[in-house]
Amino acid sequence: MITIALSKGRIFEETTPLLAAAGITPAEDPEASRKLIIATNREEVRLLIVRASDVPTYVQNGGADLGIAGRDVLVEHGGEGLYQPLDLKIAECRMMVAVREGFDYLGAARSGARLRVATKYTRIARDHFAEKGMHVDLIKLYGSMELAPLVGLSDAIVDLVSSGNTLRANGLVAVEEIMAISSRLVVNQASLKLKRAQIQPIIDAFAAAVL
Ligand code: ATP
Ligand code: MG
Repeated sequence: MITIALSKGRIFEETTPLLAAAGITPAEDPEASRKLIIATNREEVRLLIVRASDVPTYVQNGGADLGIAGRDVLVEHGGEGLYQPLDLKIAECRMMVAVREGFDYLGAARSGARLRVATKYTRIARDHFAEKGMHVDLIKLYGSMELAPLVGLSDAIVDLVSSGNTLRANGLVAVEEIMAISSRLVVNQASLKLKRAQIQPIIDAFAAAVL
């Protein structure tokens, strides 16, 4: 059995054509189904539907052989023990620092003032500001980061931005890019050794289908 862990929503949608290229068609739509294990047209391949940030954990521990996860999730997790053979170039966006319109971020950065930064991505944020030599107090949130500067919880946020519409709608502006984000294929290293005959063709089909 080959088990592939992925999350619902954007990642599932953008992965469907890649799965098709590998001859894999899900038996059910995970958006419509409550099942967390989805069979496919191939008897020996199944999909696990997990929270995006849990994909590395499932693959690392052998709960799944393969997984698809954003670079944000992988960097935040650490990626230990994961083989990452392929950038799938899906779910592309950017990890950015954003502040309220009119907030003088450069001035604050230069003056050495302590900045309060709200984010779900504490590891990425900590590393970024440490590298810049900026002193920050990190405030861990689990979602709706855009709210934090509006109510004075923080001076800045670190979050994913694609169109910038959510920032704009909340009177925020992006002031710094931390990294470009896309989703990657991750593979359990023991699985790759033990089941290479089944896994390598899937990796190759994905690689050929990536634009
Ligand atoms: P949850 O919404 O359950 O808290 P999540 O926000 O991590 O989890 P998604 O919103 O489905 O889950 O995002 C999954 C992945 O898609 C992210 O890890 C990231 O790599 C990517 N992603 C997130 N937001 C965007 C975006 N606006 N544009 C493109 N890709 C994105
Ligand atoms: Mg989300």
